[in-house]
Amino acid sequence: MKKELIVFIDSGDTIVDESTEIKNVMGTVLKAKLFPGAEENLVKLHDNGYTIALVADGTKTSFDNIYLENGLDYCFDAKAISGELGQEKPAPIMFHHAMKELGLTDSDKHRIVMIGNNLKRDIVGANRLGIISILANYSPRYDMNPINQEEMPDYILDSPDKLFELIEELELKVSDRKSIKNNL
Ligand SMILES: [Mg+2]
Repeated sequence: MKKELIVFIDSGDTIVDESTEIKNVMGTVLKAKLFPGAEENLVKLHDNGYTIALVADGTKTSFDNIYLENGLDYCFDAKAISGELGQEKPAPIMFHHAMKELGLTDSDKHRIVMIGNNLKRDIVGANRLGIISILANYSPRYDMNPINQEEMPDYILDSPDKLFELIEELELKVSDRKSIKNNL
């Protein structure tokens, strides 16, 4: 059965460990390793009926190389990729495109979460749009301290291992008609 909660998720330093990326001279990612636990949690979300969209900045070829190679591409029901859409997060088109591909409208925003490691892109983008923001704060390469209200995440994911557990917790609340925005 399909779950209520819709999961939008970033790639670099949220699922994929950017320090392992191997790029060609054009900057296209040829291969990259996932964070420990990320694959299991992504598959578990998919297998348990969550709708998942990849909302990520980069080129389509890079993401195809990563997710076709590691066999996880089937986990994504939709993709919003900046290289295809011409703008990067926090541009609304990135989120709207994923919503449109999944047949979602503004009335579904209360049940969409965006998970990402970048305050200025993932968290600001989600907050401006009124969807639920979750900061994946385990990458050592990014500043995790919000400098204003727009950068304040609703929730924190401090390990890819806890992704499924956090989403299940939020699913319970949403299906119980509780608002999960503005938690922190
Ligand atoms: Mg990222």
